[in-house]
Amino acid sequence: MERTRRSSLALLLLAVLPALLAGFYRAQPAKVQGPLAYRLGAVDGRFALSRAEAADAVRAATDLWSKAAGRELFREAGAGGIEVRFVYDYRQEAADKLKGISGNISCTRGSYDALKARFEREREAFRQKDAELQADVREYNRMVAALNADIAAANRGGMTEEAHRRLTASQEELDGWQAELDSRSREQQDEADNLNRLVVVINGIAASLNLEVIRYNRTGSVLASEFSEGHYERKNDRESITVYHFTSRERLVRLLAHEFGHALGLGHGSDPGSLMYRLNRSDSLSLTREDLAALKAALRKRGL
Ligand SMILES: [Zn+2]
Repeated sequence: MERTRRSSLALLLLAVLPALLAGFYRAQPAKVQGPLAYRLGAVDGRFALSRAEAADAVRAATDLWSKAAGRELFREAGAGGIEVRFVYDYRQEAADKLKGISGNISCTRGSYDALKARFEREREAFRQKDAELQADVREYNRMVAALNADIAAANRGGMTEEAHRRLTASQEELDGWQAELDSRSREQQDEADNLNRLVVVINGIAASLNLEVIRYNRTGSVLASEFSEGHYERKNDRESITVYHFTSRERLVRLLAHEFGHALGLGHGSDPGSLMYRLNRSDSLSLTREDLAALKAALRKRGL
């Protein structure tokens, strides 16, 4: 058997995965010179909102930034760009229930119990999946270590064509497995986010139960200000804004403007009145000085 010693056949070692694959996703804005394109996607019919009203709120939100910048920063497009969609889930459902109960404690307790049971179910499923994922990551890392040892030995002894073929095939197999582990880990991260939001809703209802008589009229706004109402995401070059929950047109426009701000590259501000504050705490539709300064800095970064 021929043993060739050729440096071109040397293989690099694979990196092992960190024990916890899940990381949080940090959206990066595109570096585009012109206005950012957007389009209205699905609007769930359970929102008390027509498509025209949704489109109007989106336009009002983009106008807030464009007017402040003195130029068109967003443009509605038929296809591509940032997809704005309205997804109805437990957040709006919980708020709608709270709005409609008018002092009926048993009904409130009913939604609390239902949400709590659902939370416990989902948390159990999450834990099981997490244990499976962690076990697979350990197994993956064990196989990477074994393969790396084989590669190091083969590199030292002079790699044969046959060994190179075999080791490359093993590497490719492990690469495929890593991609699968990565995608499972991202799913788990999304699940964790959903569980966290559900906890806030449940705690909001629990708080309103104790203070039902005095604070009943405020439960809606307490809920609205304490959990994630919307979300901007850039994933695989596709951008989207998802609306989950709003209590009034003003809050919806603010929420949309906040997410469009992320699309421009703005982070969170520290002024509770700012559009870019992490919570939707105000009904005002004007930008604060902090918002304006952040916009200016973001535009400069984009070369505008
Ligand atoms: Zn935000």
